[in-house]
Amino acid sequence: TTETQSQATTDGFHLVIDALKLNGLDTIYCLPGIPITDFLRMAQGEGMRVIAFRHEQHAGNAAAAAGFLTQKPGICFTVSAPGFLNGLTALANATTNCFPMILISGSSEREIVDLQQGDYEEMDQLAIAKPLCKAAFRVLHAEDIGVGIARAIRSAVSGRPGGVYLDLPAKLFAQTIDAAAGKKSLIKVVDAAPKQIPAPDAVKRAVDLLKGAKKPLILLGKGAAYAQADADIKALVEKTGIPYLPMSMAKGLLPDNHAQSASAARSYVLAEADVVMLVGARLNWLLSHGKGKTWGGASGKDGGGQQFIQVDISPTEADSNVAIAAPVIGDIGSCVAALNAAIGSSWAKPPAEWTSAISERKDKNLTKMAETLAKDPSPMNFHSALNVVRNKIKERPDAVLVNEGANALDFTRSIVDMYEPRKRLDVGTWGIMGIGMGFAVAAAVETGKPVIAVCGDSAFGFSGMEVETICRYNLPVCVVVMNNNGVYKGTDQNASGGKDVAPTVFVKDARYEMLMQAFGGTGVYAKTTAELKKALDEAVSSGKPTLINAIIDETAGTESGRITSLNPNAKKK
Ligand code: ADP
Ligand code: MG
Repeated sequence: TTETQSQATTDGFHLVIDALKLNGLDTIYCLPGIPITDFLRMAQGEGMRVIAFRHEQHAGNAAAAAGFLTQKPGICFTVSAPGFLNGLTALANATTNCFPMILISGSSEREIVDLQQGDYEEMDQLAIAKPLCKAAFRVLHAEDIGVGIARAIRSAVSGRPGGVYLDLPAKLFAQTIDAAAGKKSLIKVVDAAPKQIPAPDAVKRAVDLLKGAKKPLILLGKGAAYAQADADIKALVEKTGIPYLPMSMAKGLLPDNHAQSASAARSYVLAEADVVMLVGARLNWLLSHGKGKTWGGASGKDGGGQQFIQVDISPTEADSNVAIAAPVIGDIGSCVAALNAAIGSSWAKPPAEWTSAISERKDKNLTKMAETLAKDPSPMNFHSALNVVRNKIKERPDAVLVNEGANALDFTRSIVDMYEPRKRLDVGTWGIMGIGMGFAVAAAVETGKPVIAVCGDSAFGFSGMEVETICRYNLPVCVVVMNNNGVYKGTDQNASGGKDVAPTVFVKDARYEMLMQAFGGTGVYAKTTAELKKALDEAVSSGKPTLINAIIDETAGTESGRITSLNPNAKKK
């Protein structure tokens, strides 16, 4: 009968769905189109959560954030050529950030692509993806779908996590094979991210170095947040009594108001520490490459003479910028557990001269910050507006904070304290704009918690159309646009005196809140902290999609925020 026949075969569409589900991957971030439209319908029909975006970059960013939050690779589906390229930016960014994701893209037919005969959306996608991600694979036969997905999963989450590209030519989806053989061909990946236990002598070397330190410091990075070894990390910090600094996405791993947090004395501890233990953090540009004035060196090239311990899963990360005296290579959970065991219960706390010198600076800076935050100027500035967000996160530490921009990023990072691990998603290693709405959607979908996305007006522009996605899925996302009429600020002039506005300036008094209203969400125009607070309270308690257009002083903000020194200087005047 036709019934037994249809039971007897399966196809590429269903094998991809079954392979993902078999591995616990039940959410797809995507943008439909040829050749994946039917696939997405079927995936939804088979009970998967399918979240469709308006631009592939944001679907890809959502998958990346999902990977960071869950340790399972986030799944993004795109169409061929341009859709693939849009998603590729997110894949490259995920790889840079060490977030596991799999970009699965439909592609045109190999026979035509390889002879360059001009197919619909022709592009050799595999070759293009390869240098920009951790691994790239193509599946040509339905019976290899199980292997293809298994290899993609392992590549994404094992060792240093990252982005993986999986190329699925259009024809593959419609290929049919025997259903029983198809089922047998699927692989449920066992132990996708195997523990990597550090060598005992490496652990001893690190502990010995730490023991001899007069001014030790622990630096926690987003790798530490990703590892979900929260209790062990807390134990390490508290048992040793060593002051610690969180990198931006490690904020909340321990609460920012923790007595040992040295955030408010950051420049002091970086320049003064004698032994620094990096846990899931790289000595890249965000840490001035481990040398120069930031680290107490005399010039940009000199180090400050401190010694480094580096806890990382990647053996080639050590010595990337400066010498690492004690690399501890393994997964952070295993490494920190081993360090805790080696440290034992009788550890001498760091010298009081060091900890009290830090406290002194910290208290001074925190008092200064409190004074600034107590002001309520009109128009609002970054401090007064962000004080409202600060208070909200204090009240709702379970909320996820997404943050992008230049000044909007720098000020939020220093003003808004975090209290729980993995609650802050931001511009990451590249310091990019455009992650805002993609990260916000994933945060809402993956955690079910309220999401507050603080975006500069410029940053918001990169992904603003996704407010429709937020409304369509009725996600508990509140976007706060820090509106100062432009990139960095809104007061630049056209140097030629011509009629065009300066390249950094936007339409004055733009009504961003109306974008959210256009799709049925709540839009609020807020000129005062009272208006902002009321709108934020309502948004978080109702869970309704909301955009608050926070009007701040257009002269507030500095060129490139805190990284103005990265702008090349014009020699010609
Ligand atoms: P940050 O920007 O917060 O300083 P980075 O992204 O620069 O953090 O560094 C994260 C580091 O964490 C990377 O070197 C990566 O290899 C490492 N890492 C990621 N996940 C793990 C893990 N589970 N165990 C150990 N190291 C990890
Ligand atoms: Mg701006």
